[in-house]
Amino acid sequence: MKYKTDVVVIGGGAAGIAAAYRAKEEGVKVILLERDEDTGGVLNQCIHNGFGLQYFRKDLTGPEFKELAKERLNNIEILFGTYVLEVRKDKTITFVDRRGIHEIETKALVMASGARERHFNSLPVPGKRITGVFTAGLAQRFINLENLKPGSKAVILGSGDIGLIMARRLTLEGIKVEAVLEIMPYPGGLERNIQQCLKDFGIPLYLSHTVTAIEGDRRLEKVIAAQVDYKWDPMPGTEKEFEVDTLITSVGLIPQTKPVNFVEADPGFLVSNTNQTSEDWIFAAGNCTVIFDLVDYVAKEGEKAGKYAALYAKGEYKKGKKVKVRKGENIGIIHPVYIDPTQESTLYIRVSKVFDRASIKVEPLGIEIIENDARPPEMVVVKLKPFDENINEIEVIADELISKLG
Ligand SMILES: Cc1cc2nc3c(=O)[nH]c(=O)nc-3n(C[C@H](O)[C@H](O)[C@H](O)COP(=O)(O)OP(=O)(O)OC[C@H]3O[C@@H](n4cnc5c(N)ncnc54)[C@H](O)[C@@H]3O)c2cc1C
Repeated sequence: MKYKTDVVVIGGGAAGIAAAYRAKEEGVKVILLERDEDTGGVLNQCIHNGFGLQYFRKDLTGPEFKELAKERLNNIEILFGTYVLEVRKDKTITFVDRRGIHEIETKALVMASGARERHFNSLPVPGKRITGVFTAGLAQRFINLENLKPGSKAVILGSGDIGLIMARRLTLEGIKVEAVLEIMPYPGGLERNIQQCLKDFGIPLYLSHTVTAIEGDRRLEKVIAAQVDYKWDPMPGTEKEFEVDTLITSVGLIPQTKPVNFVEADPGFLVSNTNQTSEDWIFAAGNCTVIFDLVDYVAKEGEKAGKYAALYAKGEYKKGKKVKVRKGENIGIIHPVYIDPTQESTLYIRVSKVFDRASIKVEPLGIEIIENDARPPEMVVVKLKPFDENINEIEVIADELISKLG
């Protein structure tokens, strides 16, 4: 079958729902493609609360957030069970479903394809690849959606939000969590999750620790961990052994940019403040650009991508001038990496170390914000008004007013 539309959105998670809704508000024809049989993406398996405090001004679970967001999708054509195979430069998209292979001709595209989990097998850990080792997202899906119990005693590698939330979830399911191990000298997740998921349940967190080996015959029997030095090398004599049948790894998400392979990406799509990629007609939002800590940011970015994609389809927004945003001292991640100075911008910043008080400056715009307790896991958000089009580059710097952990 051959379709024709103004805007295609690939991915029906928080970013894709918001993009489709906002594009439709601009009065254009929208088609949303989702490989699952429902919208929501990762929200469906996140049954804990903490979603939507800014976007809906309510404390929601993932599925509740999805239900509220989805109410806005009336009159939008959604094709479920569709897997996008190819996006071509001639603005043609090929997807497959149960009926076969189809094509869509579009004027603009929003990529909202989310992220995938980094797997344990990508880590240099010796030992057999035995059963009992799961990524956090897979374990979450087993427990929350498929009513399966992955094991009885576990160690979690990685203290990002997903690792922390899984520590609590496993405990509530009667699985004993012996430890959460974190290679960095500070926790990887939000402060509220350290308290609510570990401290409230008495689960120990070992900072500057990693897994050095796993043992077992058919099923995991032992996890061996050690303290690491500043180069992340395990320190002899610091080994700890955990007799567990389950290892949950939460060692990072990788933006999913496939099947688009002709657009600038590192590793996610590099976009401007209008969510435009290096290919004028392709816009991107959510975890396929950068890994966001809050769904509220993902939804806001999705709306923006939908708006500008629709304006592009109507011929009301072309390629804006792109001012480069440079990562200066003590900045780990900056998003977006380009700014169209004629439009408003929201910068999402992760500092690269822990600060008691950080002064974050955007130069040469002369903007400074002071952020108490700035830490790499929590994004700092800075809003910019349109600025002088003669500026060619802006730089973001974090100054160390008082640093806890150099
Ligand atoms: C365990 C966990 C806990 C979290 N806790 C919180 C929290 O407490 N509070 C909070 O605010 N945020 C939280 N977040 C973050 C938030 O949930 C995510 O940032 C957000 O939901 C990501 O949305 P997304 O649309 O970018 O990606 P996704 O939800 O991953 O959606 C991507 C969609 O694209 C589809 N797709 C991908 N490729 C294709 C293709 N080729 N063809 C068709 N469809 C495709 C996928 O099926 C999927 O539905 C959490 C995230 C996780 C994983």
